[in-house]
Amino acid sequence: MARISLECLYGNGVFKETLVRAITDGRLSHAYLFEGVQGSGKATAAFLSAATLCCTSEEVRPCMQCPTCRKILSAQSPDLSVIGLDALPFDGHDPAKPTEKPRSIGVDAIRALRSDAYILPNDLEYKLYIIGHADRMTVQAQNALLKILEEPPTGAVFFLLCENRAALLPTVLSRVQRLNMEQFSDDALYALLCRYDREASMLSARDDALLRLYVRLADGAYGRALFYVHAQKKELAQDEAYAAHEGAMQCLALLFADSYSDDSPVLRGGEGVLERPSLTSVAARITSLLPGKDGAENRSRLRALTGALCVAVRDLTMCACGVEGQLLFYPSHEQPAVLAARCRAKTLSDTGRALCVLLEDMDANPNVGMLTRSLAGVLMGLRR
Ligand SMILES: [Zn+2]
Repeated sequence: MARISLECLYGNGVFKETLVRAITDGRLSHAYLFEGVQGSGKATAAFLSAATLCCTSEEVRPCMQCPTCRKILSAQSPDLSVIGLDALPFDGHDPAKPTEKPRSIGVDAIRALRSDAYILPNDLEYKLYIIGHADRMTVQAQNALLKILEEPPTGAVFFLLCENRAALLPTVLSRVQRLNMEQFSDDALYALLCRYDREASMLSARDDALLRLYVRLADGAYGRALFYVHAQKKELAQDEAYAAHEGAMQCLALLFADSYSDDSPVLRGGEGVLERPSLTSVAARITSLLPGKDGAENRSRLRALTGALCVAVRDLTMCACGVEGQLLFYPSHEQPAVLAARCRAKTLSDTGRALCVLLEDMDANPNVGMLTRSLAGVLMGLRR
């Protein structure tokens, strides 16, 4: 029998081992749930698994080359249905691009899938279904899916992908085999990028701190890190985590602007404002960082910004207290050490605490204008 290898999926040892064993032993489940954050490789894993099941190679499966593999990886087979995915992982695009408005998956889509599932395959050995963002299925859609999962048609295999399985009904969860995608450590992710991605390895030579920042923002997800490395400036600005990080840098730069000359590295991303910051100017800067149209979107951005500031102030506090340990906001100790020297450790830790309280308040308080002023007020505390 051909050897099974999912090596195109980086890391994820436990995941691959479980799946390979199930396929080798003929104990394949009819439904899998792959859970992991955005960009953690769920879709890649689903397409590779689908290809493995049907590949015709006598050596290694999936071979990625045979007509069957090609058809599956490009989603061209009539026996493979894909719903809810924003992009295909093997079409050369980055899979982890931030999506526009999240759309729910309605009952009609699942009903269509259900009537298809009972028709025998005529192209592949199996009928394969990949449901991206399964956690966006409405309750009716989940109940419709449940009917198929309870009496699965022979030869049908379902791959449900989700970021948050809490959004799925317990009855659905009990019918699927769950596998978690690996969350890489920063170091592991950095090493993978430098090894497998040309642009990333070029970036590490050109601006290593930037690559490390991307790794940090990717939060252990290879696909997200790839997105950051390959994204255009405009795409980066739309990414919430990136925008929050840049915004936090700008706010802190503004707060300490008058104590530096405008070529200071601290002002990176700022505009070199040299007058003394005030509550009004800080609030105005925060407002300028919000997308501006949609209230909910503004609130979510403000929340992310406050979260990023929380982490930044935590790093600054560590530096001010001389605590060793991994920084979570800054890629190196240089910048925060300079900033921390401007503040008392007590001021920093008070500010950090106030930011955490504000972050909790944000869920209860919908008024973006008021929250913006509160955030500016907390930040001005750093000047004390
Ligand atoms: Zn093949």
